[in-house]
Amino acid sequence: ETQRKKRPDWLRVKLPIGPEYAKVRKLVDTYKLHTICESGNCPNMGECWGAGTATFMILGNVCTRSCTFCAVATGRPNEYDTDEPRRVAEAILLMKVKHAVLTSVNRDELKDRGAEIWYQTVRAVKDVSPTTTIETLIPDTKGNWDALIRMIEAGQEVVSHNMETVERLYRRVRPQARYERSLEQIRRTKDFGQRTKSGIMLGLGETVDEVLKAMDDLVEHGLDILTLGQYLQPTKMHHEVIEWIHPDTFAMYREEGLKRGLKYVESGPLVRSSYHAERHVNV
Ligand code: SF4
Ligand code: SF4
Repeated sequence: ETQRKKRPDWLRVKLPIGPEYAKVRKLVDTYKLHTICESGNCPNMGECWGAGTATFMILGNVCTRSCTFCAVATGRPNEYDTDEPRRVAEAILLMKVKHAVLTSVNRDELKDRGAEIWYQTVRAVKDVSPTTTIETLIPDTKGNWDALIRMIEAGQEVVSHNMETVERLYRRVRPQARYERSLEQIRRTKDFGQRTKSGIMLGLGETVDEVLKAMDDLVEHGLDILTLGQYLQPTKMHHEVIEWIHPDTFAMYREEGLKRGLKYVESGPLVRSSYHAERHVNV
């Protein structure tokens, strides 16, 4: 039991606090922005922020959903800030971000699921910083396909939607989501002509066969890029870590993904959906 709970060595990371890190910290505060790096307690903050990269979370920091792995607060969102696109764009310009990753909470209570703010944010970034490439890690639009199109038609280079886990674990892990619906969202994103990306966390109790099945489903629905990483429990209230996946297993999944025709697979214990995201723009 204690053995299982103990983090293996390959998950130990340092948190280097250098001048770049401090700069990002200051901009995030000054512009009243949220980052998933902080909300998600990401272990790569030292590396990414030190390199001037951050994943901005738009549409507030309270989510209508309650995924059991996620550290973002659940509740009734109160932010709808039409000035947010401008501030995100400005921060990205000042940070000289070459590749920006944007994500958001779920806003199921909004008719358009937040699509207009999504659209305006991507446009604002492109207006002030035309050479910055953008990945949008978008929520599940709950079958509102018009909202999906609005979210993905702003000229971003990559559209990501995370499956997070295998089909059997959806009820436990993503109670308000549906496996088939997320797959359909990826299919529709691909049909629209976008570069598609998704991510799965490992260690939630899934089997190897279930992961391979998820890969098959994703390939069948037009996925280009896949990220696989170790799930870490943000607090004791969240889903337990069932298993520490060995780096060799991550390497095996990478091979399996490429064999299936995925264009890029980022697979390793510390991989997060936005980790090394700049490498996914040209696949
Ligand atoms: Fe932020 Fe993503 Fe880097 Fe983590 S991997 S620090 S969430 S940009
Ligand atoms: Fe967290 Fe996203 Fe789930 Fe909301 S929808 S609880 S932000 S993972």
